[in-house]
Amino acid sequence: MTVKKIAVIPGDGIGLEVTKEAVKVLKKVADDHGMQLELEEHPVGGTAYDLTGTPLPDETLQACKNADAVLLGAVGGTKWESLDFSVRPERALLGLRSELGLYANLRPAQIYGDLVDASTLKREVVEGADIMVVRELTGGIYFGEPRGIETRNGERVGVNSLIYSESEIRRIAKIGFEIAQKRSKKLTSVDKANVLETTELWREIVTEVAKDYQDVSLNHMYVDNATMQLIRAPKQFDTIVTTNMFGDILSDGAAMLTGSIGMLPSASIGGQIGLYEPVHGSAPDIAGKDLANPLATILSVGMMLRYSFNLIEADEAIQKAVIAVLDEYRTGDIMSEGKKQVGCIEMGDRVLEHL
Ligand code: NAD
Repeated sequence: MTVKKIAVIPGDGIGLEVTKEAVKVLKKVADDHGMQLELEEHPVGGTAYDLTGTPLPDETLQACKNADAVLLGAVGGTKWESLDFSVRPERALLGLRSELGLYANLRPAQIYGDLVDASTLKREVVEGADIMVVRELTGGIYFGEPRGIETRNGERVGVNSLIYSESEIRRIAKIGFEIAQKRSKKLTSVDKANVLETTELWREIVTEVAKDYQDVSLNHMYVDNATMQLIRAPKQFDTIVTTNMFGDILSDGAAMLTGSIGMLPSASIGGQIGLYEPVHGSAPDIAGKDLANPLATILSVGMMLRYSFNLIEADEAIQKAVIAVLDEYRTGDIMSEGKKQVGCIEMGDRVLEHL
């Protein structure tokens, strides 16, 4: 039996509630697929700050580095908002990404079952849409130097630098092609090559990498057009690969096609260890009330099984169970007429029942 070590870092607010449900599902699916689990739980974010004075204690970081995969809930909350930026709960995320070398962020946008009615777009536009946005996570304009606010000619100017090296582009392009290979073999690279030299290089390198992936069809799209197309005809997309900032914006746009933040999983990969977490935050407004939707975290466990352990059937089993449960049961955020409203714990139990 294979043994996998999972570091569970629930974090703050509803992070604590949703990871509990996701772990229940993980245990069951692991059991069904002959995988033995070693689970270790560690504090992160505000909870860790309260205990140790830092949002990412060494012990937590080491546990993540020694694990085969990491499951994160969410961090942050009103209680810690006035802290110095350097010890804010959200800093833990940046620390984890850079320490684990997570340069690729995967954000699927998929509509589960009859949740199609939760979308603000027409049913015929979104029904069946299934998009994966692969966003570069550790480079580009969010990290480029020089940066800052300085005075030029007697007035203040803000400066940020959009920089990508060939190797940074090549490694994220490879991830894009590999993900596309496991899906419908269609990759769209999004850039602004008509205006930005950095993305002219991006386009050149992505085209070069394509030669090693002859089974994947590649097209390029400018980011402004991609935004329009995403809303006009989302079903034309399968896998999208793009820069840090374009990916930040497009993945949120794509996600909202599906209508609910409580349903969105994500994966950050690239290094030896993958990090899996829901897209939503710690939702202080509903924390501790058994109101949170745990499905985004449960679906993140599915991504872990698929991308870290290559257990594709296990991910499919989770997705199937989620779709079946949604037919009858809903948490408050996705409630609709004719369904039975349940809390976070019962939603987790219902998914277990369907596995
Ligand atoms: P949020 O995602 O926590 O909440 C936004 C809204 O969506 C709230 O009304 C919330 O109740 C609702 N919501 C979110 N997840 C839900 C779920 N699973 N089920 C039902 N409803 C859900 O975003 P926010 O309010 O902007 O941020 C709250 C805190 O979370 C802040 O401290 C922020 O910095 C942090 N945050 C953390 C992460 C992360 O850990 N990755 C991401 C985003 C925000």
